[in-house]
Amino acid sequence: PPVVHWFRRDFRLADNRALNAAAAAGGPVVPVYILSDWKKRHHWTGPKRQHFLCLSLASLSKDLDAMGGRLIFRQGEAVAELEKLLRESGASALYFNEDPDPFGKEVEKKVRALCERLGVECHPFHDHTLHAPDEILTGGGGPYRVFTPYSKNWLNQEKPQKKPGPKTLRTPHKLSSLPLPTVKVWSLDEPKGDLVAAGEHAAITRLDRLIETKITSYGKQRDLPADEATSRISQDLRFGLVSIRTVYAKCAEAMKHARGTSRTSIETFIKELAWREFYFAILHHYPDVLDHEFTPQWRGLPWDEPGDRFEAWKKGHTGFPIVDAGMRQLLHTGFMHNRVRMITAMFLTKDLHIDWKLGESWFLQNLIDGEIASNNGGWQWSAGTGADAAPYFRIQNPWSQTKRYDPKGDYIRKWVPELTHVPAQKLMQPPKDGQPIAEGYPLPIVDHQAERNRTLAIFKKHKNGR
Ligand code: FAD
Repeated sequence: PPVVHWFRRDFRLADNRALNAAAAAGGPVVPVYILSDWKKRHHWTGPKRQHFLCLSLASLSKDLDAMGGRLIFRQGEAVAELEKLLRESGASALYFNEDPDPFGKEVEKKVRALCERLGVECHPFHDHTLHAPDEILTGGGGPYRVFTPYSKNWLNQEKPQKKPGPKTLRTPHKLSSLPLPTVKVWSLDEPKGDLVAAGEHAAITRLDRLIETKITSYGKQRDLPADEATSRISQDLRFGLVSIRTVYAKCAEAMKHARGTSRTSIETFIKELAWREFYFAILHHYPDVLDHEFTPQWRGLPWDEPGDRFEAWKKGHTGFPIVDAGMRQLLHTGFMHNRVRMITAMFLTKDLHIDWKLGESWFLQNLIDGEIASNNGGWQWSAGTGADAAPYFRIQNPWSQTKRYDPKGDYIRKWVPELTHVPAQKLMQPPKDGQPIAEGYPLPIVDHQAERNRTLAIFKKHKNGR
């Protein structure tokens, strides 16, 4: 009998645990993707990531065709759609990779119950991280709350091996004659801008480029946004266009031939993969980080009304060149460099005193790599409220951050065309004469020093019992 493979955020054929197991079951495989309706309405979704998802699915569908399979698209509530498909296809088993998010886990519970009711075997796999959250625990058996000991433990664990994908995947013959409504997934408007290429093949090209040219200088250059020296694989990991096992195996292979700074550079990169898994573990063990500050002490902080300043931040019109460059890169490409994510997030929370949850939501609406766990972790880190967060009194100064990380102003000029002819010196300090530094470019909307003092006062007052 046929079996169903339910694609969720694993849009690839290579090294896909559940798909490999489905193919090994021997019968024909019915691959399905179910587009859920809530995505259209939720304040965490937006057209850029959705567009990337659709293009990646189109690429997957083409690759499945070439192997003799056929990707079925459905739209609606996952459990109901799976029930229909399991009945229509007469499948004996359902295979899928687990979703690390609380929403995905909730659906999985219902799907397991459905399989039991229908008498269909249910085969969930852990695929999205190298180590499941419960594999990396403290000596006392509890979850970590701080990154360094977590990462030491994580680095010491043996890593799972990558496996190639199946060579063929036949869709059952009778399925092609069934009236399967294969829905159009292009439900959102096509976004404007310069978006990263989608699909498994593009992701493999990015990974190869990382290993061949970028990884040995990653340690030195990763904090300089103008250098574009980071891997750019975040959206690929988000949608499972490459497996994390493959990424790790390629890094480990590169490590064998590396010496000196190249070696430490690869180690630095691998540590970033551990950050990703740390935040998944935090979300798994403390799912209410999505509703609250991780550190109870910081719950109930008084935030300002968002208003015009929030709009200026979103559009990149704050008069702080590095902040505006980051926000415009996000709007234009659906990506922002990590260093600038920290600067813009701290600016929103510490200079504009706006609730990090609003920033979290804006990022998720715009980021192609929008990942609930990492985004929440990054926002709470920047706000000073999270697991292993920057302490509240360590407030980055956007002007000195510019001097340090964009000393020539190249990143700023790339994203803020009004500043094309402004010398670097003027991009790293507030205008002294009270005049805009370029025509059409706003004056800074706040005074950093004054807002910094206000933040310190707010946090101190809150800490001392209000
Ligand atoms: P590289 O520097 O090449 O890193 C390699 C990979 O390691 C990344 O692709 C990513 O999977 C992981 N990684 C690197 N840094 C981090 C980190 N600090 N936390 C978790 N994982 C990390 N990352 C997301 O994938 N999705 C998000 O929605 C997201 N939101 C963020 C929001 C804020 C406020 C901050 C400060 C960071 C956020 N990050 C997020 C983490 C980080 O900025 C991105 O992973 C990184 O910029 C992606 O670019 P890259 O692939 O070139 O990274």
